[in-house]
Amino acid sequence: MSSSRRKDILLVALGGNALIQKGQTGTIEEQFDNLKVPIRQIARLSRTFRVLITHGNGPQVGNLLMQQECCPSVPKLPLEILVAQTQGQLGYMIETSLDSALMDLGIQSEQRIVSLLSYVVVDESDPAFNEPSKPIGPVYTDIEARHLSYPVRKTAKGYRRVVVSPKPITIVEKREIRALIDRDFIVICCGGGGIPVVREGRSFAGVDAVIDKDLASAALAKEAGADIFLIATDVPGAALQYGTSEQRFLRQMTVSEAQTYCEHGHFPPGSMLPKIEAACQFISAGGKRSVITSILDIEAAVAGKAGTEIRPD
Ligand code: ADP
Ligand code: MG
Repeated sequence: MSSSRRKDILLVALGGNALIQKGQTGTIEEQFDNLKVPIRQIARLSRTFRVLITHGNGPQVGNLLMQQECCPSVPKLPLEILVAQTQGQLGYMIETSLDSALMDLGIQSEQRIVSLLSYVVVDESDPAFNEPSKPIGPVYTDIEARHLSYPVRKTAKGYRRVVVSPKPITIVEKREIRALIDRDFIVICCGGGGIPVVREGRSFAGVDAVIDKDLASAALAKEAGADIFLIATDVPGAALQYGTSEQRFLRQMTVSEAQTYCEHGHFPPGSMLPKIEAACQFISAGGKRSVITSILDIEAAVAGKAGTEIRPD
């Protein structure tokens, strides 16, 4: 058994905001610059952990959709192809950033990195298919929205395309991922929640959907046998009464406390709720540790000094 086999497995799920922060236009320079903060920490952690990295793609897939809208002469691509594109672009950006950070630490020869296109199986009979719920891409005016060929919904910002967001069932490449981490590769996978596919007999077919990246990461954390499942975002953790004068960030909560807070509406769908659900799923399935933290505090959270830790009852 190699010494790396004895290292615990750390899965870090990076929020889309790790690359494009609120208020930024999202130039490539900004994205590379933002990435340095979490990636330097992950590079240092790779000395003590076998590392898996997943990432969001909200802003990036939104930009690709906008580019499609601007060019009517080129055939439009379905969503699963756009998700695949973002896995390629973000995989490349994370991988090269990590490579540089490992080089700065002088450990690039010990750590090998691979970015994996990954698809995630969803269930065709998932009730989520009956109700497109997730707003994505550009904002349209009332008149523009009437001429679109896909479902739209009025949101606080204006009309937006809505897509279905089914639950992830299993990561198709789980065996490959496990084999790679066992051989001490740092693996970047399940970007943007994974390319959504359904089983069709003996093959897979892509579907026009977006899987939540936190829930896909929880599925991966279970299937890859992660010891620590860390969700890194742009706030210090989960708060009660978020955004009010009574706001209070929690350092820890049990799975049943989390459920009670969810019932009381502390965590909205589409942002904090999927993170809480993902962490609870992992812990309820026997996972050791799960923590929601800021991209600034990844190392501190691993050391138990930052973030919101979700504990078994
Ligand atoms: P990511 O790209 O990391 O998935 P999201 O925007 O989906 O980020 O989720 C993080 C956001 O959740 C925070 O920026 C914050 O504004 C929002 N949020 C909503 N409710 C809460 C809460 N109760 N505690 C902490 N953050 C919350
Ligand atoms: Mg999110």
